[in-house]
Amino acid sequence: MKDYSGLMVFAEQREGRAHPVSYELLGKGREMADKLGVELSSVLLGNQMEEEARELIYYGADKVFLYDNPVFEDFDLLNYKHNITRLVEEVKPEVFLFGATHLGRSLAPRIAVALGTGLTADCTGLDMSEDGGLIQIRPAFSGNILAHIRTKTRPQVATVRYKVMPSMLRDEHRKGEIIKKDVEIVPSLLTILKKEKLGEKSITEAELIVSGGRGLKKAEDFSLLADLAELLGGAVGSSRPPVDDGWISREHQVGFSGNTVKPKVYIACGISGSPQHLAGMRGADVIVSINSDPSAPIFKMADYGIVGDLYEVIPKLIDRIKGESS
Ligand SMILES: Cc1cc2nc3c(=O)[nH]c(=O)nc-3n(C[C@H](O)[C@H](O)[C@H](O)COP(=O)(O)OP(=O)(O)OC[C@H]3O[C@@H](n4cnc5c(N)ncnc54)[C@H](O)[C@@H]3O)c2cc1C
Repeated sequence: MKDYSGLMVFAEQREGRAHPVSYELLGKGREMADKLGVELSSVLLGNQMEEEARELIYYGADKVFLYDNPVFEDFDLLNYKHNITRLVEEVKPEVFLFGATHLGRSLAPRIAVALGTGLTADCTGLDMSEDGGLIQIRPAFSGNILAHIRTKTRPQVATVRYKVMPSMLRDEHRKGEIIKKDVEIVPSLLTILKKEKLGEKSITEAELIVSGGRGLKKAEDFSLLADLAELLGGAVGSSRPPVDDGWISREHQVGFSGNTVKPKVYIACGISGSPQHLAGMRGADVIVSINSDPSAPIFKMADYGIVGDLYEVIPKLIDRIKGESS
């Protein structure tokens, strides 16, 4: 254990830009590194990413290990895993943090296995104990308790949800070191057939979300929610049942086993308000609920409640908004 020191953050990039969860992890990492008096490093893989590497320093990193190669332009799991595992074996950080994004959730467990260490997934909080051990906080038993987990092995690897901790303010005066690492390329399993721009608004970024649940009668009815979301400049979310039924993709799921969202406005349509759903959206500034059952638990949390059939209420809302904007 004594060979391990410092904290490391995996800086995820999409289309050449660091994902904001990376800045949030650097903010928390900076706070913990200062508390322990150790170094905070970050690892970034991509193609022509030196400017982004500098951004990571502005957001709190002391050192950025940069793997710059066209092979890293897209997420190539085996090449990412191979190079990051080598780096961790060399640097030996005590703590290694990933965002609990789709990419992070796919990469972190594979690296933890390769390193023979443990992993705590989907943390919503982190702290440091007096003895320098990482306390990984995450909901357990369907969100009814918050478990505080410690890892005996090193490094202590955790994935952390997006939008649960603030990032530091960007500071262009911060100084740090960018260390360019040699890239080792291994045979890839990745074949890219077609690339599409990230067109659709992601629910984790959206300021307004219109979410649908089991109150919807069929998959096609999500188009009603999409019409409202588009008019209001928002994105479409979902509770888990429509996702399990294959009506909408998992990226749209809000909740305990889906995404944590923090929009300004969250409109829940035909969603009862289970603890697992609330776990993902209770951070919204304003919650609006449309539900035909006045005793639905979601009304206890909602700032505005509309008791009614979503198939009547939403078209009326759409007409009203269109009327006002024309
Ligand atoms: C380990 C675990 C993880 C889970 N993770 C998640 C998660 O991440 N996200 C999640 O959402 N769930 C999750 N769940 C499932 C969760 O327990 C609930 O089953 C789920 O949230 C219920 O979804 P719902 O509110 O859409 O459906 P329901 O609870 O069935 O509610 C449907 C609501 O629609 C209303 N309704 C019906 N018709 C209409 C209409 N025409 N107009 C208006 N209202 C109408 C009803 O009154 C009802 O309140 C998880 C469960 C477990 C055990």
